[in-house]
Amino acid sequence: MADDKNRPDAGVPVEKEPGMVKEIPKKSENFSDWYTSVVLKAELADYAPVRGCMVIRPYGYALWENMQQRLDARFKATGHANAYFPTLIPESFFQREARHVAGFAPEVWWVTHRGSDKLEERLALRPTSEAVINAMFARWVKSYRDLPVLVNQWCNIFRAEKATRLFLRTSEFLWQEGHTLHRTEQEAEEEALKILGLYIDFLENDLCLPVLSGLKPDSEKFAGAERTYTMEAMMPDGQALQAGTSHNLGQGFARVFEIKYLDENNKEQHPWGTSWGVSTRLIGGLIMAHGDDRGLFLPPVVAPVQAVVVPILFGKNDEAVLARCREAVTALAGVRVRLDADTKQTAGWKFNQYEMLGVPVRVEIGPKDLEKQAAVLVPRDGSGKRFVKFADLKSEVDKLLAEVGQRMLESARARLAAMSGAAATFDDFRQLLGRQPGFIRVHWCGSRDCENRIIDETRTTPRVLVPAEQDRTPGRCIACGKETGTVIHYARTY
Ligand SMILES: [Zn+2]
Repeated sequence: MADDKNRPDAGVPVEKEPGMVKEIPKKSENFSDWYTSVVLKAELADYAPVRGCMVIRPYGYALWENMQQRLDARFKATGHANAYFPTLIPESFFQREARHVAGFAPEVWWVTHRGSDKLEERLALRPTSEAVINAMFARWVKSYRDLPVLVNQWCNIFRAEKATRLFLRTSEFLWQEGHTLHRTEQEAEEEALKILGLYIDFLENDLCLPVLSGLKPDSEKFAGAERTYTMEAMMPDGQALQAGTSHNLGQGFARVFEIKYLDENNKEQHPWGTSWGVSTRLIGGLIMAHGDDRGLFLPPVVAPVQAVVVPILFGKNDEAVLARCREAVTALAGVRVRLDADTKQTAGWKFNQYEMLGVPVRVEIGPKDLEKQAAVLVPRDGSGKRFVKFADLKSEVDKLLAEVGQRMLESARARLAAMSGAAATFDDFRQLLGRQPGFIRVHWCGSRDCENRIIDETRTTPRVLVPAEQDRTPGRCIACGKETGTVIHYARTY
C-alpha cells in the first residue's frame, strides 16, 4: 500500500504529534544555527553518544543511498569494480609512506588491545586506505596484463576531530575511495582527470552544485600525492566547501609498497597510481547550498521523496478524494512518491512539513479537482502552482522535477558567480573580503612565504589554482609584487 507509513522505501520522517513543525532560525540571520536545526528537524542525522560522531538517520541515509547509486553507476560505466578492505591497518604499513603518515598522524584513532591483551603493534582505524590497498596490490599485480587495476571501496572512515559539525566534520563518516594502478604516468593522469570530470558531472547534474575545479597548491595536496585535483563549492555564507578530490599518486606508493610488474620486455616496473573520494560531507553541502527559511530543499535526482501527494479533505467526498490520491500514486510509477493520507493533520500542516523535508514537488488533490479531472502541482522553490489535467499527471510531474532541478543549478551558479571576485593587490583583497566573502582570485608567485602571509593576514586558505588554459595573464603576486602567471582562488573554508 502506497500510504502505508511503515513503507521502508524512503525513511521519510513521520511526525506523531500535531504541531511538530517548529520554527527554525532564519538562514540569513543565523546560518550556523539554521544549518543544525535543519539537519535535526528534517531527521537527517543526530549526535552520537561518542562526541564528534554522528548517527545518520533513515531519511539522511536514503539520501546518501541515492547519491551512492548515481556515483556507483558512473564508476562502473568507466570500468571500476567495488571491493572491500579491512578497517584495521597495522601501524607499520601506515608508516611506510613518510609524507602520508605525517599528514594523517594527528587524526588517527589507534586500536591498542585485543580483548584485554595489549597488541604488539598498534592498529589504525583507517583514516584512508592507501596503505592497506597498495599492500594488497603488491601481491596481486605481477604482469603488465594485470594493469590497469580499477578498484573502488564504499566504507566508513575515522578521523579524530575536535570541533565537529554534523555531516561537515565528524570523527567517523562514510565515503567512497577509488584506487587505481596504471602502466604509464600519462594513463594515471588521465584517470585522475577522468574522475574529476565524473565528479563534476555528478555534482552539477545530480546535486545542482556547481564548483570551481583544478589543482591544489602543494601545501594543500593529499599526503603522499604528486598532484591533487579538487572541486570547491561556494556556500551562501561565503565559505568554500571542498566537495571532493582526485589524486595522481605518481609512483610513490608503488615504490614504498613494492608493487612491481614485468612489462612487455620482461623488465620490472613500478605502476603509477591514483586515488579519489567523495563523502557524506556532500550532504552538508546540499543542505547549505539549497535550503532556505522553510527548511531543506533537495535536488530532485537524489531526493528520497520526489513528490508528495496531499489530499485536501473537507469532510465531504473524502473517500473519493483519497481514492483519487491513490490513483495518483499509481500513475506516478517511476517517481519516488509518498501519499500522506493522515486525517489527523491538516493539509496546511503537511505543506509545511514536506517543505521542511525538502520534497521538490507537492501534488494536491481536493474535491474540486475531482470534478475537473485535475490536480495541483506545487514546486518547493516557490515558483507557483500549476494546474494540470489528471491524465497528464506523470508527464507534468516529470517535467516539473526537471525544471526544479534546472532552476536549483542556475541559482547555485548565479551565487557562485556573484561570490567570486578578483583582487590585484593585498589591499584590494582585504577590502573585497570585508565587503563580500567568497572566492577571491589573485596572482601568486608560488612561494610558501607569500602563501603563509596571505593565510595569516586574511584567515583564508588557497583553494584551487586557476587552470593555465583558463588564465595565464601575467600579474603581480599580491604579497611580494613579483611578476607571475600563476592565478589562484583563496577563500575561507569549512
Ligand atoms: Zn610572492
